[in-house]
Amino acid sequence: MTALTVGAKGPQRVAVLGAGIIGLACAWRLARAGHRVTVLDPSARTGATYAAAGMIAPASEAAFGQDALLAAGLASARLWPTFAADLTHDTGRPIELTPCATMLVALDADDDNALTRHVRHLHRRGCTAERLTSRAARRLEAGLTPRLAGAVLLHETAVDARKVASALEVALVEHGGTVLAVSGEPVVHEGTATGVRSLGERWATTSGVIDADVVVVAAGWRSPQMLSALDHAVPIRPLKGQILRLRSSPGALGHTVRGTVRGREVYVVPRPDGEVVVGATSEDVGEDLRVTAGAVHDLLHDAIELLPELAEATLVESTARLRPATSDNLPVVGPTCVDGLVLASGHGRDGILLAPLTAELVSAHIDGRPPPSGAETLAAQRLCTPKELT
Ligand SMILES: Cc1cc2nc3c(=O)[nH]c(=O)nc-3n(C[C@H](O)[C@H](O)[C@H](O)COP(=O)(O)OP(=O)(O)OC[C@H]3O[C@@H](n4cnc5c(N)ncnc54)[C@H](O)[C@@H]3O)c2cc1C
Repeated sequence: MTALTVGAKGPQRVAVLGAGIIGLACAWRLARAGHRVTVLDPSARTGATYAAAGMIAPASEAAFGQDALLAAGLASARLWPTFAADLTHDTGRPIELTPCATMLVALDADDDNALTRHVRHLHRRGCTAERLTSRAARRLEAGLTPRLAGAVLLHETAVDARKVASALEVALVEHGGTVLAVSGEPVVHEGTATGVRSLGERWATTSGVIDADVVVVAAGWRSPQMLSALDHAVPIRPLKGQILRLRSSPGALGHTVRGTVRGREVYVVPRPDGEVVVGATSEDVGEDLRVTAGAVHDLLHDAIELLPELAEATLVESTARLRPATSDNLPVVGPTCVDGLVLASGHGRDGILLAPLTAELVSAHIDGRPPPSGAETLAAQRLCTPKELT
């Protein structure tokens, strides 16, 4: 178990807005170190965390020109085994990192060339990526389509994000933290955050305000709505993702499989209990939570193109949620220009991957410890532009 202690300032009263994976990971980590933590969220299952496939996949996600995101992702992936072990220890609920490697597959020569470029990109950055012939890929994953042109094997894992979020809440309460089912907003007085105010009816104090030394805004894509006290805008926007859950036989699939079908990216993530997650769309359409017939059709079509036997699986669930996205795909984590107001949002497609690193950055700031290296690329102040220019 990782030992944690409060910093020189002693135990702080911390209020966290948002009980998605980011708010809960920060809250748990702080409560574990001895801080007095209260989390507010009116409806945690409506957040992006509830939809996430749970891939801990920095190398799969590595896009050209996004080295800072890759570095943060690799750093956070290294923290995940201890994060999961500590969570298991605190709750008695096993949080398993599914040991299913990722297989990136190509269905034609163009996609295969793109895989070659991706492998070169990863090798130059010190990542392991193993090129496979189509025959070798099908030996490892028998259900893959015979139309395969080539594949790449990456040593990545996945978690069940819903189980992690629910375990984080249990662990937080074990460490004396509180979760309130109300929405809130920061209270700022003369440039300093002094607590949070309830926006709902059920509340713990008659004044509707909980005093806090530090307020952490981790409200996903809604975070900018809580930052009116800042003298600059924080450009986090909703990015819609639609995703499906199927039921197959446990062990029928051994790898996360990712590919491109008719120009659309698709992934298939197996869980040990036979759940298979198929995702996901990426739609810049604002605050729209509809599951559309076209998206369900395309996701099923594309997944079955890669793994034909999935046609026999049971369709269990279709979900749409909004990712908190930023223009440079990097999250926004750390202190703001308001004393005591900390931001932890903008994790886009990678919030599950980046949760342990985010919790470490936020707790290091609150405890006055030096942040892990590379923290400046994620710093909350980097995206700030004067309000009148946005
Ligand atoms: C389809 C899909 C698939 C994904 N797959 C992956 C994946 O495989 N791997 C990966 O790393 N990432 C993945 N992601 C991204 C990941 O889910 C997000 O980056 C992550 O969940 C963001 O977590 P969060 O806690 O910041 O936000 P959320 O989970 O959205 O939580 C924010 C919370 O804030 C609450 N809130 C809002 N307003 C208030 C208020 N005023 N007061 C209090 N609370 C408030 C909301 O109710 C919500 O519960 C996926 C996302 C989607 C949509």
